[in-house]
Amino acid sequence: MAEQYIVGVGAVIASLLGFLFLYCNSLKRFRGLRKLKRAASMEFPKGNSVKKTGNSEGVGTRDIIIVGAGVAGAALAYSLGKDGRRVRVIERDLNAPNRMAGESLIPGGYLKLIELGLEDCVDEIDAQRLLGYTLYKDGKKAHVSFPLEKFQSHVAGRTFHNGRFVQRLRKKVASLHNVSLEQGTVTSLIEENGIVKGVQYKNESDQVLTAYASLTVVCDGCFSNLRRSLCYPKVDIPSYFVGFILTNCNLPTKNYGAIILAHPSPIVFSPISSTEIRCMVNVPSEKVPSVSNGEMACYLKTQVAPQVLPELYDSFISAIEKKGNIRIAPNKIMAAAPHLTPGALLIGDALNMRHAITGGGMTVALADVVILRDLLRPLHDLSDASTISKYLESFYTLRKPMSSTINILANVLQKVFSASSNPAMENLQHTFLGYLRLGGMFSYGASAMLCGLCPSPLSLAFHFFSIAIYGVGRLLLPFPSPKRLWDGAKLLWVASSILLPYIYSEGIRQMFFPLTVPAYYRTPPKKGALLVQSMLKVNL
Ligand SMILES: Cc1cc2nc3c(=O)[nH]c(=O)nc-3n(C[C@H](O)[C@H](O)[C@H](O)COP(=O)(O)OP(=O)(O)OC[C@H]3O[C@@H](n4cnc5c(N)ncnc54)[C@H](O)[C@@H]3O)c2cc1C
Repeated sequence: MAEQYIVGVGAVIASLLGFLFLYCNSLKRFRGLRKLKRAASMEFPKGNSVKKTGNSEGVGTRDIIIVGAGVAGAALAYSLGKDGRRVRVIERDLNAPNRMAGESLIPGGYLKLIELGLEDCVDEIDAQRLLGYTLYKDGKKAHVSFPLEKFQSHVAGRTFHNGRFVQRLRKKVASLHNVSLEQGTVTSLIEENGIVKGVQYKNESDQVLTAYASLTVVCDGCFSNLRRSLCYPKVDIPSYFVGFILTNCNLPTKNYGAIILAHPSPIVFSPISSTEIRCMVNVPSEKVPSVSNGEMACYLKTQVAPQVLPELYDSFISAIEKKGNIRIAPNKIMAAAPHLTPGALLIGDALNMRHAITGGGMTVALADVVILRDLLRPLHDLSDASTISKYLESFYTLRKPMSSTINILANVLQKVFSASSNPAMENLQHTFLGYLRLGGMFSYGASAMLCGLCPSPLSLAFHFFSIAIYGVGRLLLPFPSPKRLWDGAKLLWVASSILLPYIYSEGIRQMFFPLTVPAYYRTPPKKGALLVQSMLKVNL
């Protein structure tokens, strides 16, 4: 009770101070953004990926070209196709992806699938229901249940093989007669007078083709080679996920993933089918042992296995020993920094990436698809690329509640969960676990944000300050001493120095003061809207 009181009072005071600080900073950032926008509007970047039309065969014009039929591309193609658009999707490889990314869809992402009419894509793929995670540290544990009480019983997270899910999405796309889905690798965007007119690509027979459309949406994923001319990519790789599949074992709690706060970094377990559990070991970028020469297997056996839950130990060792089972993928962080380009738009990992620890990437991508679909809905005519591009600028502010909440949480938690020699960091881990155990609005609110059900930057700020006050209160009890005060100050310093740079990179103004962003108020261009009205009249 005393703990909850400390948190409650402290959170209110801290929130007020925090918002004052954020407001001052937002004014500074506003000036910076204006400069950036002015520069952006002046010239079209001459990156490698944007070329004028060369010698290639034309394949005709569609309303929209989508590059990449991964999670974002396939979901977008389906939703725009359902709205009657003529869409061409070009995907490098139409076979089922065999990757260890995108295997866990949090409940917020499942709700987005429902909004898009794609919820049946998690059926018939042996997907497992996910109701939360159990966090383990030094023999203690904390359950983080997703707050699903207010939803129908089918609403929950899902875990699955990414390839099976993506193939289900693609099958839905292929079922629409006005959407063409073809295999090909897009090599460049076609640009004329600063406007993207379409793409150049190689089909399966290595033939070079060109395709034209009023709008090209680039969703070519985390290794995007087309993003360079459409955004200012600043990619950070704090760690790698080393992954492998465990069989013949069960997690301690059915329908719950497990996260072990191990040394030096966390280990995540989630069931990806009724018989398989994916294990992901986070390995900091500075010390990644080589997989090919066996150093990684040795590292996993000697450093990681002893920290694994006893019931998983044998399967863990067998999985490491299985030839070719160990895979490795970079955890990339990239804030969205779009370069407004008439005729083209980026979404998905090509636009924005966050650490994979919370499994939020697909949810952000699907939420972006919903926003983009809704923005495009009133427009029949997309031919005035410059006007449409200006109108679509609002997309980058409208996406902030979901994207910035999930991005910041993921990026902050990967730091907090990674142990360090700094005792203040260790304190922060204990504080976070203690906060989750408080129950009530504290753990409920935090888990609602984690699972994409409460995408709110203000809620994020509130919980951050509540956690900070709770942590300091814990350190000062039963009575403050100079050492305790000093430890409390260090905790606050460490917590702020982790959080604030991520808030800054997301854009304080767009996150906390979206109503002051002019693009927020953009309405559909009159020409397109009139056309829609006249179409409606004809149809009536
Ligand atoms: C290790 C790891 C684990 C992750 N785990 C999760 C998780 O559990 N849950 C979660 O929600 N997110 C997770 N993510 C993030 C998630 O995978 C991505 O956010 C999500 O897949 C993004 O979807 P996308 O459509 O943008 O990209 P992708 O799904 O990667 O799709 C891109 C598509 O574009 C195609 N393509 C690429 N280049 C071209 C080209 N030139 N021409 C034509 N096609 C092209 C590719 O073949 C691919 O099909 C994880 C990421 C990593 C790195």
